[in-house]
Amino acid sequence: MKNIKYDILLDIDFNNFVFKGKEKIFFDTEKGEEVIYPNSVALDIKKVLLNGKEIDFYLKEGKIVLSENYKEGGNVLEIDFSGKLRDDLTGLYLSRYTDDNNKERYIATTHFEPVDARKAFPCFDKPDKKAKFKISLLIDKNFKAVSNTLPEKEEISDDKKLVVFKETPLMSTYLVYIGVGDFDFLEDEYRPALSSNRNVLLRVVGVNGKSKYGEKALYYCKKTLEYLENYFGIEYPLEKLDLLSIPDFSVGAMENWGAITFRENLLLFDKEKSSKVTEQRIAIVLSHELVHQWFGNLVTMKWWDDLWLNESFATFMAYKAIDSYKKEWNVFEDYLLYETFGGKDFDSKKTSHPIKVSIENESQIEGIFDEISYNKGGSVLRHIEEFIGEENFMMALRDYLNNFKYSNASASDLWQSFAKYNKDILEVIEDMVNKVGFPRIRYEVLQDENLNYKISQERFLKTGEKDENLYNVPLVVRLEDSEIHKLVMKSKEVETSFNKKPLYFNVNGAGFYLVDNFINKNDFEKLNSLEKLSYVDDIYLKTKSCELKVEDFINYLDELLNGESNSTVLYYYLYCLLGFWVFLDKKIIVESANKTAEKIVNILGFETREEDNFLHTTSRKLAVLWLGLLGDERAKEKAFNLFNKYIKGDKFDKDLLQAVFPIVLVQNPESYNLIFDRYLKSKLQEEKSILMQAFLFCKDINITNKILENAKNNNIIKLGMLPYLFNPLALKDENIKNKVLEWIFDNWDYYSKNVMITEKIFKLTIPLLGVSNYEKTIKFLEDKEKVPSFEKQMKEFKEEVEINMRFVKYNS
Ligand SMILES: [Zn+2]
Repeated sequence: MKNIKYDILLDIDFNNFVFKGKEKIFFDTEKGEEVIYPNSVALDIKKVLLNGKEIDFYLKEGKIVLSENYKEGGNVLEIDFSGKLRDDLTGLYLSRYTDDNNKERYIATTHFEPVDARKAFPCFDKPDKKAKFKISLLIDKNFKAVSNTLPEKEEISDDKKLVVFKETPLMSTYLVYIGVGDFDFLEDEYRPALSSNRNVLLRVVGVNGKSKYGEKALYYCKKTLEYLENYFGIEYPLEKLDLLSIPDFSVGAMENWGAITFRENLLLFDKEKSSKVTEQRIAIVLSHELVHQWFGNLVTMKWWDDLWLNESFATFMAYKAIDSYKKEWNVFEDYLLYETFGGKDFDSKKTSHPIKVSIENESQIEGIFDEISYNKGGSVLRHIEEFIGEENFMMALRDYLNNFKYSNASASDLWQSFAKYNKDILEVIEDMVNKVGFPRIRYEVLQDENLNYKISQERFLKTGEKDENLYNVPLVVRLEDSEIHKLVMKSKEVETSFNKKPLYFNVNGAGFYLVDNFINKNDFEKLNSLEKLSYVDDIYLKTKSCELKVEDFINYLDELLNGESNSTVLYYYLYCLLGFWVFLDKKIIVESANKTAEKIVNILGFETREEDNFLHTTSRKLAVLWLGLLGDERAKEKAFNLFNKYIKGDKFDKDLLQAVFPIVLVQNPESYNLIFDRYLKSKLQEEKSILMQAFLFCKDINITNKILENAKNNNIIKLGMLPYLFNPLALKDENIKNKVLEWIFDNWDYYSKNVMITEKIFKLTIPLLGVSNYEKTIKFLEDKEKVPSFEKQMKEFKEEVEINMRFVKYNS
């Protein structure tokens, strides 16, 4: 099947929330080719014509099975269909907002990844069936329409407007975008870095006048585009790029070609109300989606088993882009904390999977948008770059993108590009991508004076079990006097000699492995912040796997970090301590957390400073939150002071709000009504999400009941925002824990209509709540395992609960 072209007309009716469609699909087939029928889900198919003749058909397993065969050469399929605007944030769906007159308004918008384009129009819905799309929309004449390209024609007749968009380049179905609503636009232009003879139209698209908050996004968009064009040596190919803020959205953002969609709080920045943390999140998420315009959109994986190629590169390159023009943000510290450590945590479970997975059934696809595809994949790329060098890495990517643009490629195509620049890397990468898990590295001195070492490896599992997996590990070792030593370990044990004393076996924390040996304070102090963070995570993982008691973890790290002046390292330690505190009532945890939080505020102060980056503000917030929850007078005073300013509408420190509301609610549960009222009135999703995250800190069980009642009312808490309600630190109280778990058990039918949202809610609750209600939770998860699109995730959550259970028993 070749030369596929779609001519699609959708007539969208907001009075009845339905749409009617007419499409022509042109394509060529060759003799003996396997017959592929068009996919269609939840559409009412009225009529099918093949090559001008009406034919019979029936629907089976999401496909339109045709009564006649395609002919050799050119074919035309004509299909008339209709459908409903959906409410589950997939396919062509309805998103709601209230305007300034408190009137409910609607937009129609799409989210097609991975396999939901078929819910909007029948199509050959596979990433390698790239096609050109010519989209026309018939809409209310007062509305505006956005798609992947710009309109070439608009005609108004009676109450309707016909918008005909220009034909797209060759692209996959999951990247098609259609949006209709009363949009407003903030426009800008971008001059591509490699040529000077054209401009790209940039727009932030919003509703209710909100596009005016898009200035920061446009700034970061231009900076990142420029970096990526220079890096890849390929210009952004389209004539426009829209960044759309969507009120109801299931994931963070989606890279539709030329029409990227975002959840509002990851795109819009209000100078009066938004925090520094939001600004940095916007930059990173936007950057990720921009990388996809090359990695994923221009060159696309052949099949979903290589989804990680898209996501890993977008994850890694996004940080590289930001790091190139925002050095002061130290984004690779964020990278370790949010990407690499998350990847290691996930990959140290038995239910983990190799980066490369086989996908036989489409219901399995959503399950692999997980920590392996994003976090581990991205971390392995950083590991490879550290090993082969930045220049070689870039040249390999350029070759790959140039060789496969406007088509599809598989991972092995990329390895061939890497092998051209470093021939040893081929078997290393294949090993990293095809094997589940990662090794722990141990070393011992053989002869001190010659610096001879024996290094051994073994898979690390949080369950404490062992297995026979061995890895090809590229080791990058930090030696005394800033020297670096590289070697590839290909067997269980190797012997090697260094010319200086080794300090830490994981330079810049870039290696996706765990270093088993303890290091002394003197050596620790010679490491950079990335290495210190990585080392704290090594110890944390060993504690989680019950090799160390929590007391040993604390005694060792308290001593090691005594005198530590890097607030991010202290923050990660505090974060680990609170991760233990949610499970265990131990005085030593509380005391050490207090001490660490004190140190953080001593370094950073209580007030946000001009030079603060994401991790500074995040560290301060957690420290103040912790101190305030425990009743520390200064933290309480600060929180109430800011709260009063917030309520009065005075100027205040926006970056501390996430700590302020929980402290106020814990100390003064009656303020819930005031906070909830502000939540209802707020029109800014960022503000709403911060208010929501505080709700469950209120320790009044009647209020908990009210909150949970609201949680299943999409008019009060949007389904797409629901995960923000569940903050693990709020779930210490037994009564609240039980209520929340009960809510999760009882409302499966409500939230599970969206797989991504369900996963997010479970991640924040089940591993913790399951420990207090072990048997009931396991039974629930086992029951949901029978739903095909949830099978993988439920098994993973079950193991997570079991690991935590073991951890609690070991430490009780
Ligand atoms: Zn992505």
